[in-house]
Amino acid sequence: MKTYQGIAVSPGITLGEVMVIDNGRCRVNRRSIERRDIAAEELRLDAAIEATTSAIARNRDSVTQELGLEYGQIFEAHLQILSDSRLKKEILQHIRSDLFSVEYAVSVVFDKHAEMLSKIQGGDLSERASDIIDIENRLLRQLMGIRKDSIATLTRPVIIFATELTPSETVNLDRKNILGIVTERGGMGSHTAIVASALQIPAVLGVGRFLNEVEDDDLAVVDGKTGLVILNPDSETVRKFELQQKKEKSFKEHLHSLSHAPAVTRDGTEIAIYGNIEFPYEARFCLENGADGIGLYRTEFLYLAASPEDLPDEEMHFEAYRKVAEDMGDRPVTIRTFDLGSDKMPAGVSLTREAERNPFMGLRSIRLSLKNTSMFRKQLRAILRASAYGKFRIMFPLVSTLLEFRHAKMLFGDVCEELEEEDVPFDKTIPLGMMVEVPSAVIMLGTFVPEVDFFSVGTNDLVQYTLAVDRSNKEVCSLYNSEDPALLRLIRQSIRVASMYDKPISLCGQMSSNPIYTMLLLGLGLRQFSVSPGAILEIKEMCRSVTIAECRELARNVMFMETAREIRNYLKHETARRVGEEFDSLEF
Ligand code: PEP
Ligand code: MG
Repeated sequence: MKTYQGIAVSPGITLGEVMVIDNGRCRVNRRSIERRDIAAEELRLDAAIEATTSAIARNRDSVTQELGLEYGQIFEAHLQILSDSRLKKEILQHIRSDLFSVEYAVSVVFDKHAEMLSKIQGGDLSERASDIIDIENRLLRQLMGIRKDSIATLTRPVIIFATELTPSETVNLDRKNILGIVTERGGMGSHTAIVASALQIPAVLGVGRFLNEVEDDDLAVVDGKTGLVILNPDSETVRKFELQQKKEKSFKEHLHSLSHAPAVTRDGTEIAIYGNIEFPYEARFCLENGADGIGLYRTEFLYLAASPEDLPDEEMHFEAYRKVAEDMGDRPVTIRTFDLGSDKMPAGVSLTREAERNPFMGLRSIRLSLKNTSMFRKQLRAILRASAYGKFRIMFPLVSTLLEFRHAKMLFGDVCEELEEEDVPFDKTIPLGMMVEVPSAVIMLGTFVPEVDFFSVGTNDLVQYTLAVDRSNKEVCSLYNSEDPALLRLIRQSIRVASMYDKPISLCGQMSSNPIYTMLLLGLGLRQFSVSPGAILEIKEMCRSVTIAECRELARNVMFMETAREIRNYLKHETARRVGEEFDSLEF
């Protein structure tokens, strides 16, 4: 039995036989041609580009259809690379001047670009090397007449072990028979990771070099939540994981039976549970899980999935928002205007004039929108146009002063007037709200109340700005605690002030997706939760298992405690006591 640790990119526990695939890059030997063969080689290049273009376009269309525009764009970007005239010119030059065979010329040019990308440090650009290799492999397979894609047609259920999987290999996997994916290379930001998690295939990437220790038919356990890979587990480990898998399955079935049940506490208080989404296709998952609406649509992902040459225009925004509006029907959809900057930057694009020394304190979120008004107005136009198809609310992120909110509201008013002049239909009663994720906003919440239609507490940022802990810095992660007493006081104050004035307030930070905090938040007066789609049913089950009276008592006890550790232990204990064994599979 051997244990490896990789990067967990798509959750789920899987146990099964291994299939090691040699899907490394097509290797091409150097081959020269005669001068008289140049024209024929050029024709072969054109034919290969044409056939590859059609194949990628087919992928793009089927992926767009199944998963949505953002995923289709991965392949749209491949098409753009393939149609880049400079790339073709480079290949032709090698054929004409160096008398390289077309296969060799293609591999020299693509290898050069892949290597250049892989050397770029930081950001996601190095991850894009696998997109270049993907296109190269397709072109070479076309030129060399290799048509069969072994992993697209599997004959039995297996876990794929590979050096690396390209995005197109991942979408073309034989879904019936794929139990999981483990690769030596790749990481969280790769398109392969994004696609695997969209397809809900448990996946661990970036394990490092280990394939020489693996053989076909070895048994493996893969945990896509922790990144653990166990090869040839002993019988006790197999039993343990089988049990865990079984528990997860029956708990999921139980939760699933709640999809259409209301989130009502045992003493009859109705709770609203909304979903947090990043991509339009997730609206469907939220509906399947019985969400009351979308409480947070992180629209910046539209930019993060785009290539630098192809940032979203108004139409792309509009199409994405319209899809969510139509899917959700008359349930509210809270669209947060883009929250770009700091850790959320489109690869290869610089949005600030100079590199920032302290990006989390810098030009991010609403501050960036208010500086880059053409980008902001484009988004507001698209949101308003799409508002005619559903029930939207607009929310501004990281508002830290009242003037900032007023400034955003003024621009919004301007865009409304522009659309009215153009006779474009939109919802004229659309509510305008704000995220509460900076301590100054909590402290001054009362002054926002007359001008703001609703609030949503963003604890992910509120923790970091309250405790001065960078949320993405591993060195200080032990200080990043959602149960810190200081943070809990800010949450309590926000809920109290909003409720006093009858303003809707929800909590959309990660904290609301974790059942350990549900009782506490209910006890502090929260009645609207906005959670990741996968947590909707768990939080609903939690709400249905408790009474408001016991939650209030729990919250009172917590507010007497002085340290995060004490609070955490107490919450763990109390949650387990209420919902017992069933919640064992949850992350406490
Ligand atoms: C938050 O800060 O809690 C939040 C929901 O916003 P994001 O995680 O997108 O910064
Ligand atoms: Mg935030």
